Amino acid sequence: MVKKNSVLGIIGGGQLGSMLATAAKKLKIKTIILSDDPKAPAKNFCDEIIITNYNRLKKIDDFISKVNFVTFEFENIPFSVLEYISKHKKVYPKPSINQIVQNRFTEKKFVNKQGIKTTSYKLIKNKSDLLSNVSLLPGFLKTCTLGYDGKGQYFLNNKNEINELNIDFKKEYILEKKINLKKEISIIITRFLNNDCLIYEPIENLHVDQILNKSLTPAIIDKTNFDQAQLQAKLLADKLDYVGTMCVEYFIDENNNLLLNEIAPRVHNSGHLTINTYNISQFENHIRAVCDLEKIELKKNYSAEMINIIGQEIKNYRNKSYSKNEFFFDYLKTEIKEKRKMGHLTTIKS
Ligand code: ADP
Ligand code: MG
Repeated sequence: MVKKNSVLGIIGGGQLGSMLATAAKKLKIKTIILSDDPKAPAKNFCDEIIITNYNRLKKIDDFISKVNFVTFEFENIPFSVLEYISKHKKVYPKPSINQIVQNRFTEKKFVNKQGIKTTSYKLIKNKSDLLSNVSLLPGFLKTCTLGYDGKGQYFLNNKNEINELNIDFKKEYILEKKINLKKEISIIITRFLNNDCLIYEPIENLHVDQILNKSLTPAIIDKTNFDQAQLQAKLLADKLDYVGTMCVEYFIDENNNLLLNEIAPRVHNSGHLTINTYNISQFENHIRAVCDLEKIELKKNYSAEMINIIGQEIKNYRNKSYSKNEFFFDYLKTEIKEKRKMGHLTTIKS
């Protein structure tokens, strides 16, 4: 068993990479980040950063030679790169999981196969597929791969709107029925190498323009939804033989049905409040799981609310002073862009 003083390689240098590196430091684990972005903000938090295009083998080999374990902060790394790395070093969660959840269609099929409900959806390869599935409208047309924060999505009210949109059918899509949402929640779960799991309480999420705006704990939901969401997340983590922290996003419809939205094979924005509300955060638990460290039972200390700071808003937050129960996180991104997550603020309540 590899203990402290090991070196963890993290692929991806955004805010999730930064928070993973910070959690690793606390456990005296060195982090080396591999990123294709010369401005990657995680360079401010890790021990070393290797900047490279993901297809430059020499740099990838350099990364492999320096680390004991590898993990990642985003799921859209080319599968071939993860596969190559995993021939030399342990990669957790294992790359085959990414192959399933990187694609909305294979992800939903996998989820349904486990007896878990999702929204109604159909694979769309061309305009005639779309026209023969108008019964799913109003609905969302989503690219099967590479979408995040609502990117790669079109909302379609009715059949007439299909002709108005200039859809690039070089890509594959799913068409998904629009749900009248009562709530959105997420479950953060960490699974360890010995198959043990730690599950956080459901977190309630509010989205604005398809981007997470606010997360709350406790989530104000029925006990049935609470239990079912945790059970489903556990079942999926077991089925995937998952190692590390994973997030499962759910919709709750107006009839209180729980519908699984998507799986993120990584730490997640809705789990940022675990840094300030639990004895062990989602980030620390991820490091503990992938580096095979001790599992410590979870203890929730506070209720809380987290808000995402998007684009120009960050300027106001950088100049503010904060009270004892407020925790401001600046992701230290050099460029402010519209709709870009720049930081977050967690406010704890006893
Ligand atoms: P992303 O990968 O960009 O997070 P999601 O599929 O999770 O994509 O969609 C982002 C948000 O858009 C969801 O959290 C939800 O608020 C809204 N949304 C997506 N699909 C639906 C749907 N079928 N019905 C209602 N709202 C939806
Ligand atoms: Mg989502």
